[in-house]
Amino acid sequence: MANQEKLRQQLLQLDGRGYKAYRDTEGSYEFPDFTLSIDRTQGDPFASPSHVRVKVSGEIAGFPHQLYQTKSSAIALRDYLTRQFDNYAHSISKRRGTGNSGLIGIVRTGQEVLERSSVLIDDELVEVRFVVGLPAGGRRILGLQAAEMLCEQIPQLVDRTLKYSHLDPQKIQRHVETVEDADWLRQQLAERGLVAFIPNGAILPRRSGVDDQPLQSQAVAFQSPKSLQVEFNCPNQGLIVGMGVPAGITLIVGGGYHGKSTLLRAIELGVYNHIPNDGREFAVTHPAAVKIRAEDGRSIVGVDISPFINHLPQGKSTTNFSTTNASGSTSQAANIMEALETGAKVLLVDEDTAATNFMIRDKRMQALIAKDKEPITPFIDKVRQLYTDYGVSTILVMGGSGDYFEVADTVIAMQNFQPEDVTAKAKAIAQQYTYLRTPEGGQEFGQITARIPLPESIDPSYRQKQVRLKIRDVDEMVFGTEDIDLSAVEQIIDTAQSRAIAAAMVYAVRRYIDSKRTLAEILTLVMADIESQGLDILTPFPQCDLAIFRQFELAAAINRLRSLGVR
Ligand code: ADP
Ligand code: MG
Repeated sequence: MANQEKLRQQLLQLDGRGYKAYRDTEGSYEFPDFTLSIDRTQGDPFASPSHVRVKVSGEIAGFPHQLYQTKSSAIALRDYLTRQFDNYAHSISKRRGTGNSGLIGIVRTGQEVLERSSVLIDDELVEVRFVVGLPAGGRRILGLQAAEMLCEQIPQLVDRTLKYSHLDPQKIQRHVETVEDADWLRQQLAERGLVAFIPNGAILPRRSGVDDQPLQSQAVAFQSPKSLQVEFNCPNQGLIVGMGVPAGITLIVGGGYHGKSTLLRAIELGVYNHIPNDGREFAVTHPAAVKIRAEDGRSIVGVDISPFINHLPQGKSTTNFSTTNASGSTSQAANIMEALETGAKVLLVDEDTAATNFMIRDKRMQALIAKDKEPITPFIDKVRQLYTDYGVSTILVMGGSGDYFEVADTVIAMQNFQPEDVTAKAKAIAQQYTYLRTPEGGQEFGQITARIPLPESIDPSYRQKQVRLKIRDVDEMVFGTEDIDLSAVEQIIDTAQSRAIAAAMVYAVRRYIDSKRTLAEILTLVMADIESQGLDILTPFPQCDLAIFRQFELAAAINRLRSLGVR
């Protein structure tokens, strides 16, 4: 294998040549402390930057085994190293010419700790993937600049961010222990009959709609009502006390601007782990909790929405419902049925983003519009059956209708950002003002119908290209010739997830989508492959910018593909 000196010489010799000559440097180089692999060089200085990898032996990196021996701890440590690398790379990157020249980047991280493809660790190796913008003046190679980047800056980066002895052991320990405890807490929920847990002292509000860091001075820390308080004895930090949200049907009520949506958002994101000091790092939710909302305009393909919607005008089918432009209520019904189809166990609904006519239909409206003139069976008449028939719980923010008191198991009122258990009061009120509505939902929830996706309808190609995938933002995916709008899929929180989801769609089509398997079966197979072999199976060569997602988010992307066909 060539060495560092050889690479330096080679880069100096390339000085002044056309940019494409960088391709000659693809390969591996032995440095004193690590191996550098240049996997893919970019075609020109404005193209997306070149992919490189560094492998440091376990001996040189020196991380104690206990920091990565479980899946939880390894993900936490990998996340920690990604953040260190990102910070340091950011501080030493500088412009070195045209386009991306000089850039050193790994992946942008937020408040969540996700399994990522950026850093891998085992006893033998720490491997880091990142991108570099190979330097150019115009479209000519700047050899000296390239040599400086690859042969000086990268060794510096490795030295400062991938060696245990140069990092803060206490911070690493805390990062790892936080994630371990959160994973442990999440695992305990089912056994305790809970679907979510928010610890006392948690800081749920964020700085702003565009800044996901915790709100600071004005934030009111979370404090559980006594009646809902539960305790856990975590493996690392010991006793933790907070509010347990029981399985069943839970309403979050309260005046406007009192913190209802903020609480629900924390519950939505409790399917993920968070970094220390996030404020929500021990707020955990059942892993199969899915946010549901109305999403008018989306396409729906062959979904059985008949539990909620029947006898549409013009005799349109609702057991096999398709539209290119859904209404608020049909989109919300489809979002629920699709989540159930792929195994959701908790539904999370906020009145702010729900369709009113899907949620309620009061006495007076029942009197004016007879049941046989209204296709919608409102959610209120199905939410109980969903729990009894399928064990699917619901947490619902509902400040606007007391009709739901009738069907709720637990009612939590948010007042001045603090929860209060008002279940007894709400039940008494329900008794006092008798329920005048006629329930419309019947005894049973109804069928959850499996669909079989058709492979030819999921085509990532574009003109001559076999695969064309682009992620414009967290919620904008280009898949072949189609644009997929993910903006209503609120539990996709990172562009690296969107990228992995796009790649997983291609993977699913190549391997498992065969006109025979159901969507749920396909997702189970894909998720199991990722679980056992890692995110790398999704891409043709190792890349830094993939992050884990759940089957629900992968299903959401497939379901929003406008070309989708199903049986
Ligand atoms: P609601 O859904 O009840 O109308 P929101 O959850 O949207 O209320 O919260 C209203 C505002 O209060 C938001 O700006 C939010 O960031 C802020 N907020 C929420 N919870 C807290 C809290 N615990 N401490 C301080 N501010 C909060
Ligand atoms: Mg709200």
